[in-house]
Amino acid sequence: MARDERSVTPQSEDFSAWYNDVVFRAELVDRGPVRGSMVIRPYGYRIWELLQADLDGRIKATGHQNAYFPLLIPQSYMQREAEHIEGFAPELFTVTHAGGKELEEPLVIRPTSETIIGEMMAKWISSYRDLPLLLNQWANVLRWELRPRMFLRTSEFLWQEGHTAHATAADATAETMLALGFYQDVAVQTAALATVPGEKTPGERFAGAERTFTLEAMMRDGRALQAGTSHFMGTNFAAAFGITYTSESGTAELCHTTSWGMTTRMIGALIMTHGDDKGLVLPPALAPYQVVIVPIGRGDQSRATLSAATELAARLRRAGIRTNVDDRPQASPGFKFNDWEMRGVPIRLELGPRDLAAGTALMSRRLSYPEPDAAKQAIPLDAAPELLAAELTAFQAMLARRAADFRDDHTVTVNSWPEFTAAVAVGWALALACGDQACEDEIKAETTASPRCIPLAGEPEQGPCIRCGKPSAYGKRLIFARAY
Ligand SMILES: [Zn+2]
Repeated sequence: MARDERSVTPQSEDFSAWYNDVVFRAELVDRGPVRGSMVIRPYGYRIWELLQADLDGRIKATGHQNAYFPLLIPQSYMQREAEHIEGFAPELFTVTHAGGKELEEPLVIRPTSETIIGEMMAKWISSYRDLPLLLNQWANVLRWELRPRMFLRTSEFLWQEGHTAHATAADATAETMLALGFYQDVAVQTAALATVPGEKTPGERFAGAERTFTLEAMMRDGRALQAGTSHFMGTNFAAAFGITYTSESGTAELCHTTSWGMTTRMIGALIMTHGDDKGLVLPPALAPYQVVIVPIGRGDQSRATLSAATELAARLRRAGIRTNVDDRPQASPGFKFNDWEMRGVPIRLELGPRDLAAGTALMSRRLSYPEPDAAKQAIPLDAAPELLAAELTAFQAMLARRAADFRDDHTVTVNSWPEFTAAVAVGWALALACGDQACEDEIKAETTASPRCIPLAGEPEQGPCIRCGKPSAYGKRLIFARAY
């Protein structure tokens, strides 16, 4: 059977093909001319702006200030922290020529900004009175990518990076957890993702960090996606860049620093958490249009319904609801319904002559759960702003519940190797592990699953490693999963 050219590959047939169909057909992105680059189209960029505004509010409300640092970093800066340069070397873009001449010292395009911000922190901090220093930057970064995927792995992406300096390890640790906390709030409250906050094992830590914390989100194919990370650097970067302060008693001390980031990958997480075979499904908090009105009718009738739709849209916008009237004259109502379903708009209203005469509009929700799609429902135009505001709140909560149920249904506590392989084939396994890198490598080679995190909420537990039987490390079960 020939597939409608506007439809998408079913998720069950090929999840990765489904993902590609959705990102392009929903007009979120286009491919850039350079391999691994991505053009974010207006509809996709609006989602990012909404996410950015939400997260920026939380960052500022906790006392951080935004600043901007240069894109180009002297190569020597990157080399000062040994683990940092080792971790990033394979992904670096280096500028060797400028102004038609070879540069004396090559410049690196930032893959992250610890080094250049560390240099400035050393200059700006002298006394304990200057601490804590709480900075955040919204920027693009570049990391060379051989196997690009839109939003998930592209050579250039957008993010925010928080960088802070503190007097004590305890203060810096508290900051690391504060940032993880607002990422968790953005992920669950705003993006309606199903996440597990936890700590990375040593093999999965950020290059140069003492401790790395993460949010792991479950995608609809059972894989894990890292939705945000927060790093406690100890004094590693302070020692490399001379970030010191004079204490109250007059001694010179090294600062303790942190960094934390959330990126445009979050849009990939949204797509793969909520989307279905009709396309994208957006949580109202991040939907460019929360409601789309489709006026229906021919001739004089179309003028009347369009005018009523425009008036209704103005009332909805005044009530704070992002509303669009689809007045494309050349497109049929059926085309428009499919198009907005593909683009994930939470609520659609149809307004035809008969609805107008009855003082109502026909409402359809993009998705319902746990019951399947409910029938269209007539709602009174008079009460539309209040009714739709309540519908959008319910839709947001429904998506979060659906994602959490899916995560819980696909997370299995396992105590044998066959149980482990069965669990990671379709979701996440909670397992005890010995912590040896060679053992983790073996697990990955056989199943493609890796340790995603040690969940913060996990109960203390000891026992044999799921793979080799040696005593477990970490004192808790780990989440193992295939990951993006
Ligand atoms: Zn083992």
